Amino acid sequence: MRPAILILLSALPIAGGQLTPERLRYPDRPGTFLKGLHQSAVTGAPYSWQNQQDTSFEHWQKRARKRLRELIGLNQMEKNLADFQPSVRMQPEKIVTQDGHSWHRAKGVLRPEPEVEIPFWMLTPVNNGITQRPLAICAHGHDTDGWNTYAGVYRDNQHRDTTLAKDGDIAVQAVKQGYVCLVPATRGLAAAAAIPDLNGRHGNRACRAQLIHSLLAGRTAIGERVWDVQRLLDWALENLIQIDRSRILMTGNSGGGVLTAYTAALDERVTVAIPSCSFTAATSRTGYVFHCDCCVVPGLQSELGGFPELGGLIAPRALLTVHGKKDGLHSHDDVQRAMAHVEQLFRAAGGESHFLFQWGEQGHQFYPERMWPFVTREFDID
Ligand SMILES: [Zn+2]
Repeated sequence: MRPAILILLSALPIAGGQLTPERLRYPDRPGTFLKGLHQSAVTGAPYSWQNQQDTSFEHWQKRARKRLRELIGLNQMEKNLADFQPSVRMQPEKIVTQDGHSWHRAKGVLRPEPEVEIPFWMLTPVNNGITQRPLAICAHGHDTDGWNTYAGVYRDNQHRDTTLAKDGDIAVQAVKQGYVCLVPATRGLAAAAAIPDLNGRHGNRACRAQLIHSLLAGRTAIGERVWDVQRLLDWALENLIQIDRSRILMTGNSGGGVLTAYTAALDERVTVAIPSCSFTAATSRTGYVFHCDCCVVPGLQSELGGFPELGGLIAPRALLTVHGKKDGLHSHDDVQRAMAHVEQLFRAAGGESHFLFQWGEQGHQFYPERMWPFVTREFDID
């Protein structure tokens, strides 16, 4: 029997509708405390660009990236896994044809550490003589079937219809344009790559169970997810000779966008990053936390200065951030504030022409009409 499909979002609103300033207001005393707590953390963060302007931007990036690797637990994972060789095994592929386009679709399994298996889809355009192709890594968020959703592998007609209604088949869109696509299951979010929350100890949330286990081991949930993507990328660049290393796109909506932002900040092999409906401040001016618990990186604000600093670690590589005007998970003002900060960081990096922020007209979803023209321009695709 199939597991029940549970779709959660990156931070569940208490009730439907927009996150208006009213809904972000805490009562007086905890409100004053929270505001002071987070503002003083951000202001005093030793690794923010603001507090490191005695050095060059590149030098700040090196320092901040090194600190972020520690905060996110990648150093701990490297230590844990020093003697382990990650591997991938592929299953036979089949040809899929849709709307006049054909591609190979093959399932693979990544083994990023002992006793962990991450299934993924690989979509490859049927060869028409083009030898160098861009790569798209598509990282899904809080959808237990997200890697299937993104790759257009549907359970039933309803799954297909709800996906297409929100332009959620992002890897299918990419392969039709000639990209080689990798669509991994996200650890702790996909049912196929999650640890069960025994007895509902963590609120019946697999992603929170992953967070707690990883924190106790000196890691973070998001760090484990970055690790998985990096190991998949290692494999792809070593084994898929048709990939053009200068054109590596990573994208994801919601929790997949958070993963995109961290991966691109830490791994310079990603040349274009498009976090969709996810790139904002970690906390509002009032101290409200926007992302799901599983996205937390302890010390992100007190050490690095906050989520928008990730933009500075991506610069001057290309970054497009998109938000939906009707997205009930993010606040308009805090998104604008975060984007103004990212823009400043790109300017400091001399890369302002490679940063773009766009509003989509709908809610918490991909906006292909905003995304693909940006990537095409950045990749200089005719
Ligand atoms: Zn979560």
